[in-house]
Amino acid sequence: MTASRIECDDLVVGGGFFGCSLAVHLREACGRNVLVLEAGSDLLQRASYTNQARVHNGYHYPRSLLTALRSRVNYPRFLAKFADCIDESFEKYYAISRGFSKVTANQFRILCETIGAPIAPAPAHVRKMFDSHLVEDVFTVRECAFDSVKLKRRMASEMDRVGVDLRLQNEAKRVTQLPNGELLVDCAGPGGDFQVVCKRVFNCTYSRINRLLEASELPLIPLKHELTEISLVEVPEPIRNLGVTVMCGPFFSVMPFPSRGLHSFSHVRYTPHCQWQDAQGQPYMDPYSVAAEGRRRSNFVRMVADAKRYMPVLAGCKQADYLLEVKTVLPRSEVDDSRPILFRQDHGLPGLNCIMGAKIDNIFDMIEFVSAAESLASQGIA
Ligand SMILES: Cc1cc2nc3c(=O)[nH]c(=O)nc-3n(C[C@H](O)[C@H](O)[C@H](O)COP(=O)(O)OP(=O)(O)OC[C@H]3O[C@@H](n4cnc5c(N)ncnc54)[C@H](O)[C@@H]3O)c2cc1C
Repeated sequence: MTASRIECDDLVVGGGFFGCSLAVHLREACGRNVLVLEAGSDLLQRASYTNQARVHNGYHYPRSLLTALRSRVNYPRFLAKFADCIDESFEKYYAISRGFSKVTANQFRILCETIGAPIAPAPAHVRKMFDSHLVEDVFTVRECAFDSVKLKRRMASEMDRVGVDLRLQNEAKRVTQLPNGELLVDCAGPGGDFQVVCKRVFNCTYSRINRLLEASELPLIPLKHELTEISLVEVPEPIRNLGVTVMCGPFFSVMPFPSRGLHSFSHVRYTPHCQWQDAQGQPYMDPYSVAAEGRRRSNFVRMVADAKRYMPVLAGCKQADYLLEVKTVLPRSEVDDSRPILFRQDHGLPGLNCIMGAKIDNIFDMIEFVSAAESLASQGIA
């Protein structure tokens, strides 16, 4: 029996924040006939939900000036575009550790001045919450959090408004090229197997980008994965309206997680549960299978045991839940902690594009890359 076929201009694989944002752009700005396939039962359920919810304003990247600068550029754009999806109601502080830190307070100050990110000395009542033997300085900064459930609703309504065809619980399995140059994508859904014939495929599956490539016998992109824990906690009253990040090394962050009305708690040393890299010729591991392997025990007790040395009030945090998700970065990010967008045009097949954003605000970089590629293509420059 032949599988049924759907035709479209552009197929976007993955209904996370990146896939949805791209689909709206392709439909609205380029007038394309766009189909989005999402393997899960709803949009923005994977990395776009399980993350720290920080809208980066550059402070986090003292070792990568480019990432710090891009964050500064994208921050106001994100706030303007998604004003209804952000939480700015809390105060945000960055503290610098005296020991084991890759940045000093002075270097942090210089970074902020260089990128034009506002900082001020933290007020005395906040400084008092930190152990001054361990913490060199504390700064008030401007950074907020996003609400991923509101983002999901927003993206669903935008896709609906512009007329993107969305199919949930449908998975892209394999991509091949037809003799006429179009792409043929084998897919599976609740109604059975089907095929999509299109001009372009955008693989926006984040940690799973290589899964589609591997199944299509195409070259893998070197990527590093970490199974990470985001603990969700109720914080003690004195820090209910605060977000705190201790920089830059084996430290921690506690900040509001708006979609659950809790705080997220993460710790550079204890958040990763395991890690691995995708490399050509090595056996491929599906990140979602790694994330689903049994229920791993939370590292929350260890996170708090360390963090309360810096900020004793954190001893009063109560864990309400914890989330596990695979965080994927480019291998070079290990060295300089950068978070660039990955954009591979015509990867392995003409028309097959792979896109991975390392931060939520990278959507603006993605649109710029895609627009530049479209413009070159329209001028006949590959
Ligand atoms: C633990 C953690 C903390 C983070 N903290 C922050 C932060 O504080 N601030 C920030 O800006 N960024 C943060 N990030 C990064 C940010 O979450 C990601 O950059 C962003 O969510 C990626 O979005 P996406 O749409 O590419 O991926 P996803 O949201 O993972 O979407 C990919 C989608 O593809 C679907 N899919 C997969 N395979 C297939 C297939 N074959 N067919 C159809 N659908 C498929 C999945 O079901 C999923 O919905 C964090 C990430 C993690 C994991």
